[in-house]
Amino acid sequence: MKLKTSELSGNLNLAYWLLNKTLFEGRLPDCKVKVANLSPEGLDGAFIYDETTNTPKYLIISSKASDHIKTLVHEMTHVYHRIILGYKDKVDHPPSFVRLLRSRYKKLGLTLDPEDLEN
Ligand SMILES: [Zn+2]
Repeated sequence: MKLKTSELSGNLNLAYWLLNKTLFEGRLPDCKVKVANLSPEGLDGAFIYDETTNTPKYLIISSKASDHIKTLVHEMTHVYHRIILGYKDKVDHPPSFVRLLRSRYKKLGLTLDPEDLEN
């Protein structure tokens, strides 16, 4: 079933709220999820934040992502790792991030594949 961008966006914003409660103990700040076509950059998703205040601005999930929920959990884990735990690594996916992501995926019955670490 192909969803319209507005429907996908509504679903992903609801999923953010639900996944925050179930996977992140409700600790993530409110954060808008936007849907965009990121295919020219080859990205499935991105986490945009203010570096000086260390506050989230929004998440972008590509309408072309192969799995929108996996991508959303990936970007939410960036929010948790950076904003809540305070990691400021220069590399995008240090071992501490990978451990967090794998355990969140496991709770949802999902497996972490190498391509899940490309965003
Ligand atoms: Zn990432």
